[in-house]
Amino acid sequence: MHKDNQPLIFELSTEGRIGYSLSDLDVPEVNLDELLPEGMKRTTEAELPEVSELDIMRHYTALSNRNHGVDSGFYPLGSCTMKYNPKINESTARYPGFANIHPLQDESTVQGAMELMYDLQEHLIEITGMDDVTLQPAAGAHGEWTALMMIRAFHEANGDHHRTKVIVPDSAHGTNPASATVAGFETITVKSDEHGLVDLEDLRRVAGDDTAALMLTNPNTLGLFEEHILEMASIIHGVGGKLYYDGANLNAVMSKARPGDMGFDCVHLNLHKTFTGPHGGGGPGSGPVGVKKDLIPFLPAPVLVKKGDSYTFDYDRPQAIGRVKPFYGNFGINVRAYTYIRSMGPDGLKAVTEYAVLNANYMMRRLEPYFDLPYNRHCKHEFVLSGRRQKKLGVRTLDMAKRLLDFGYHPPTIYFPLNVEEGMMIEPTETESKETLDAFCDALIQIAKETEENPEMVQNAPHTTVIGRLDETKAARKPVLRYTK
Ligand SMILES: *Cc1c(COP(=O)(O)O)cnc(C)c1O
Repeated sequence: MHKDNQPLIFELSTEGRIGYSLSDLDVPEVNLDELLPEGMKRTTEAELPEVSELDIMRHYTALSNRNHGVDSGFYPLGSCTMKYNPKINESTARYPGFANIHPLQDESTVQGAMELMYDLQEHLIEITGMDDVTLQPAAGAHGEWTALMMIRAFHEANGDHHRTKVIVPDSAHGTNPASATVAGFETITVKSDEHGLVDLEDLRRVAGDDTAALMLTNPNTLGLFEEHILEMASIIHGVGGKLYYDGANLNAVMSKARPGDMGFDCVHLNLHKTFTGPHGGGGPGSGPVGVKKDLIPFLPAPVLVKKGDSYTFDYDRPQAIGRVKPFYGNFGINVRAYTYIRSMGPDGLKAVTEYAVLNANYMMRRLEPYFDLPYNRHCKHEFVLSGRRQKKLGVRTLDMAKRLLDFGYHPPTIYFPLNVEEGMMIEPTETESKETLDAFCDALIQIAKETEENPEMVQNAPHTTVIGRLDETKAARKPVLRYTK
C-alpha cells in the first residue's frame, strides 16, 4: 500500500546509464570466459538497474530517511536496550590500526588489538564477577549456546551423562529454550508465581539428578528482579546442576550486583545492548560468555592469554568445546564496547543502571492509571503493561502499536512475554531525557483516550506513514517479492 510515488531502483533504470567510472587497467587483462568452468557461467544477462551515481545516492538517501533508528527517534523496544550509540565508538572502531588489520596477520603485528580484547575481557570479568571470559560468540543466543555446550562438556567430563535437562522459567527470554534445544538438552519449564517471579516450589519439584542447568533471565522478561536467587542457587547446586545467567540486559544491574557473587557459574552479555553496540537487522553483535573456574577448561579455543608483556592465542586446550566463531568474535563491536566502558568509567556505568531503572519506573507510574499493570511492583530497566482493558473496547495492543507510528515513535515490544494478555513491554533506557519520556507517555495516554472516544482512529492506524498497515503473515511467509518488469 504505497502512499507516495517513490519508485523502485529498477524503475529508475535507463538503458546505458552508468553510475561509476573505473580507472584504466594497470594489470594484465584476464579472460574470465576461459577461467570459469562451463556450469558456472551465466546464460542470461544479470538484471541490474542502470542508474547514475546521483540517482543511486538520492534513492538510498530517500529510503534511509524513512527508516526509524536510534539516531532518529525514541525506540522503547522492551528486552532490546535500544540506547544511544555514542559516536566516539564509531571513530575508535574506524582507527586504521583496528579497521584495516587482517585476522590472519601474524600475532606480533596485532598486539594492540589483542591487548584491547584482553583488557575488555578483564573489564567484563570485573563487571560480572566471573573468573574468565571468551569474546568469541557473535550474539546473545550464540553465547547461550556456547555456555550450554560448556556445561554439557563439564558434566560429560565428570561421567554425568544422565544430566539431559535444562530448566527454564516461563519468564525467560525466548532464546533460552531454543539454545537449550540446539545444545541437545530437553527443556523443562517452571512457572512464575503471582508476583511474576520464579515459583520456588515448582523449581524444587523439577530439579533433580538429571538437571544439567538452570537458565535464569534476570531481571526477567517482566522487568522484575528475581528476589530468591540465593535460594535458587542452592536448589540447583544442591542437585549438582550449573547456574546460567542470561545477562543480555545488564543495564539494570551493572555496577550494582554481579552474577558471579550471586552464585552463577556462567553468564552471557550482549555488548550490542548494554555496551552500546548498534544492533538490529541481525548484527554484527557480540555475546561474550563469562565462566567460573570449573568451566574454564571448556572455553572455546583459542583462548587469548597474556605472556609477560605480550599476547597470544592458546590453542592447546584439550577439553575446549572447539571454536564457535571464525577468528576471534566480532572485533569491531568489541572496540565499541571497550570505548564505552573506558569513557564511562565505573561511576558512569553505575549512573547508567540508576537512570535506566529510574526512567522505567517513572514511565510505569505515569501510564499506570490508563493501562492494566499485571505485576504492580518496582521494575528494573523495563516494565510490561497489559492492553486487556482496551481489548474489551475492541482495540488490540497491535492497533495501539500501529497508532504510535503516527506520533513518530517506534512501538514497544508487544505480545511478549507470553504470560501477559495483550502485553506491551517498554524499555526507555537511561539515554532519554524526561521530555522525551513525557512526550511518549502523552502519546500513549492520548491513544488510551481515543480508544474510549474514537476507537476507529486506533483500529485503522497508522494514518501518516508512507506504508499503511502491513499484512504481517504475508511479510513472514513471503518476505521477498521479486521485481518483474
Ligand atoms: C536480546 C536478548 C537475548 C538474545 O540476544 P541476541 O543477540 O538477539 O541473540 C537473550 N536474552 C535476553 C534477555 C535478551 O534480551
